[in-house]
Amino acid sequence: MAAVNFDKVVKSFGAFTAVHGLDLAIDEGEFVSLLGPSGCGKTTTLRMLAGLEFPTSGEISIGDRVVNDLAPGERDIAMVFQSYALYPHMTVAQNIAYPLKKRGVPKSERGAMVQKTAELLQLTELLSRKPRQLSGGQQQRVALGRALVRDPKVFLLDEPLSNLDAKLRGYMRVELVELHRRLGRTMVYVTHDQLEAMTMSDRIAVMEGGRLQQFAPPTEVYRAPANRFVAGFIGTPAMNLIDGEIRQSGGTWQFHAPGLTLDCPPLLDSARPGPACLGIRPEGVVFGSGPIEGVVQVVEQTGHENIVVARIGADMRLTGRVGAERVWQAGETVRCGIDIDRAHIFAAGAAGERL
Ligand code: ATP
Repeated sequence: MAAVNFDKVVKSFGAFTAVHGLDLAIDEGEFVSLLGPSGCGKTTTLRMLAGLEFPTSGEISIGDRVVNDLAPGERDIAMVFQSYALYPHMTVAQNIAYPLKKRGVPKSERGAMVQKTAELLQLTELLSRKPRQLSGGQQQRVALGRALVRDPKVFLLDEPLSNLDAKLRGYMRVELVELHRRLGRTMVYVTHDQLEAMTMSDRIAVMEGGRLQQFAPPTEVYRAPANRFVAGFIGTPAMNLIDGEIRQSGGTWQFHAPGLTLDCPPLLDSARPGPACLGIRPEGVVFGSGPIEGVVQVVEQTGHENIVVARIGADMRLTGRVGAERVWQAGETVRCGIDIDRAHIFAAGAAGERL
């Protein structure tokens, strides 16, 4: 039995459907991120799991219990929000103890539970401080402490790091991964930040337009995107997506676009000749040699590498990731190639599946 299961879950707000028939089975102890652009339905999904929204149809279960009709307090979950919402007039210890007090845990037991949680999050020294006397990262740890103290079955985290600066976010990412490892609890994490999702998750549920696009480990989402949407959404700089068509001659498939003809990587049996899209990550583009002629348009120096954008023909752009040792100039002519072993072919259309 999955720790969390969504079975054909639909959520509509009036005539608008925010989540379309979501099927998602999250394993016990897994760290799963719901990742997607603004408005894709990830927060609605998390709120349904929390009991803050109710599904229009379908079933949500936690462990072996269907929770559709259970109030948030009956679900054995804890939620950490983007705004930590600590009580400003309470000390750190009182803030952490608050959920226990609300649930009627006797005062004599609360102290030890707060102490244990504080030790886990390295907050022991700060227990008598008020939230305004803490840094952003410390406040976020207190918010985590408040969620942890009850030892719930599932943790729900809604963009918990988005109010922190970049350096602290990096630090907290590591802390969260470490915490997950120590606790071994199921965590469901909502983010629109792919770096967070890629670095922390066991599996990522990529959503778009209220629909699940792919549910897989980070490396698989990166290396084998299920469709064109996932291909374009995951990875910085983004994957090059070139519209053209696939043709079959003899037993081999070729991809054609203006000024470009390439043998295809192995395709699925379902592939048919016709419009298609070639996807190649910037690290799969070779600059300096190859059959394609281009003109360098933009060079971004990041220090350890250069991101080079070249124009091919009238309106095709190719972005490549190249070593920092060779300096490219805008306007210079360049020969490029595509490492076909690293290319993907997608069916035509914005959500075309990988062939
Ligand atoms: P963001 O990253 O911006 O928070 P999200 O992926 O979390 O986006 P949701 O908040 O789940 O997206 O919203 C999904 C869609 O449902 C959006 O189009 C949103 O406007 C709509 N929506 C969410 N809540 C309501 C509501 N209470 N009433 C009407 N529409 C809603």
